[in-house]
Amino acid sequence: MSRRWVSRLAGFVLGSFCLTGTGSAYYFYVHYNTRTGPFNNPIYEKFDVNALLGGTVRFFISDQAPVMAPGDSFQAIVSEIRSAAEVWNGVGSSGIRLAYGGLFTAGTNESAPGIDVEFSDNIPPGLLAMAGPGSTGSAGPGGTFVPITRSKLYLPRDLSQVPYYGPIPSYSEQFFVTLVHEFGHTLGLQHTLTSSVMSTLWTSASSKATPLGADDIAAISQLYPSGSFAATAGSISGRVTLGGKGVNLASVVALSPSNPAISALTNPDGTYEIDGVPPGQYFVYVHPLPAAAYGESTPDNIVYPKDVTGTPLGPNYDSFVTQFYNGRNGGTRDTVQAQPLFVYAANSTPGIDFVVTSQKFSPVSTVRTYGYNTQAGVYVSPAPLSVGLKAPVVATGSGLLQNNVLTPGLSIGLLGSAAQVTDVVAYPPPTQYIAMYVLVNFTAGPGPKHLLFHTPGDLYVLPAGFTVVNDPPPTISSITATVDAAGMRAVLIAGSSFSSGTRILFDGLPGIIQQTTPDGKLLVTPPPAPTLTVTPASLSPGVDTLVEVVGVGTNFIDGQTLVGFGTSDVVVDKVTVLSPTHLRVEVVSNGFASTGGISVTTGLGIISQAVGSQVTVTNPQ
Ligand SMILES: [Zn+2]
Repeated sequence: MSRRWVSRLAGFVLGSFCLTGTGSAYYFYVHYNTRTGPFNNPIYEKFDVNALLGGTVRFFISDQAPVMAPGDSFQAIVSEIRSAAEVWNGVGSSGIRLAYGGLFTAGTNESAPGIDVEFSDNIPPGLLAMAGPGSTGSAGPGGTFVPITRSKLYLPRDLSQVPYYGPIPSYSEQFFVTLVHEFGHTLGLQHTLTSSVMSTLWTSASSKATPLGADDIAAISQLYPSGSFAATAGSISGRVTLGGKGVNLASVVALSPSNPAISALTNPDGTYEIDGVPPGQYFVYVHPLPAAAYGESTPDNIVYPKDVTGTPLGPNYDSFVTQFYNGRNGGTRDTVQAQPLFVYAANSTPGIDFVVTSQKFSPVSTVRTYGYNTQAGVYVSPAPLSVGLKAPVVATGSGLLQNNVLTPGLSIGLLGSAAQVTDVVAYPPPTQYIAMYVLVNFTAGPGPKHLLFHTPGDLYVLPAGFTVVNDPPPTISSITATVDAAGMRAVLIAGSSFSSGTRILFDGLPGIIQQTTPDGKLLVTPPPAPTLTVTPASLSPGVDTLVEVVGVGTNFIDGQTLVGFGTSDVVVDKVTVLSPTHLRVEVVSNGFASTGGISVTTGLGIISQAVGSQVTVTNPQ
């Protein structure tokens, strides 16, 4: 098994900057303007939203198509990449947007802020993808953040046979969720340990249906806050110490039986602040970073924060005992004794301090769970469980087994009372799995539930160890090509457990469910494939040019239509929607450029050659 990870791709230059107070949260790419402290003013790497037109950062996809899994297409890959980026645009409290800028010629380097998606042979075996800020500018005097100038996102150049994974088709859940994760890195988010999309694959609870966790939403909103964000969320702060000294890179987590987890890593002096916490009641616990797993160069592959000289500041502990806050220094491993906190909007809850006890290593860490979908015959992570049914859940991870039997003293429970965990057994060797039954109570609400792994003297918390669902997962048993009442191409989909929330995706884009037939099949029309005619065919450097775009089957919407030309050389000054099928675009180009690389984003749809749309370029003469 392997994992996604982040790599730093280039160095950066830090200027000197003044300190302004911001808290720490989740995990970003962090710098400190000091060697000795205080460390309560982390400086983050992020895009300069104010310098981006419409707060939108463009991503460009290499025109060097990868080797594809059987049945896949480059159009589908581009479409799924776009859909994954769109996930981040759905966060209302975030002030940054991603937009597809078109294809770019591999090997070209651009300096304008943006994100390059490339297919690479240089992804180490066992890793699915890698991404991160590739180059950053100087924070400069008075700078409060380090501006990202270019981020890089690398996918395997051979998707037909990825080492350890096999074929990775673009329609797979793994491809999509990995892309959402990697786009998070390109925007400035690091790994967390709370089962969000920014967790590594070991503990990720993300799915195509629900890719983002509360921690992801808090993280992106904290890095790029939009107007009302600070007023709607609260914060928790405190300090973690060991032997009287601050603990660097401890993970502090807020969660409750009914609230998903939001976490932060501590500063080098042990201080922490979890911002962006939705109002409510929470338990808070602190746990150590796990040991670096296979393929990781640091614990959880965290890129360590750097001091003013650029020196990385790694963890200053081996491990320590996990504990819940209980209002006293010692904390507790008994969640019944944990003291809940109330978080109020626009308010801070300070003084949530922990004194932790050192140990050499944590007995249990890095656990991944699976449910079994009997209808589809597949394992699903995290397990979707319905109330009132005793369902099997499978787990694998560090410290669950010793010599092929259950670790002595291991017991598994739940935070809260939504379910009972029983019948914990080890699978026969050499399989490194354990199994348990989970019975969800009728009073349990839907959503993620948190598992507790007790061992003698320690505790491991797995946020979102399973998910309570109202409806079982849908399955598809057959697809038949047909036409709808209007004569448009359509498909008839047979299967089970379709509900009002069911979406049918075509290369990541939702089709329109026209009707449910009397025998329960869905009649679905795929997203239309519009065409564009673009005039003129090319742009000259330094000249203001009016580009006319006439569409067939388009629905250009005023104020929601973005145009890109696949290169940062072409700057779009103004887009005027003359009609749902006619655009006028004012551009200035820094070099000769074809208008054939145009992509038009309108509402949720994007039209460009790269996604298989027909684009015709013409010259006015
Ligand atoms: Zn990663």
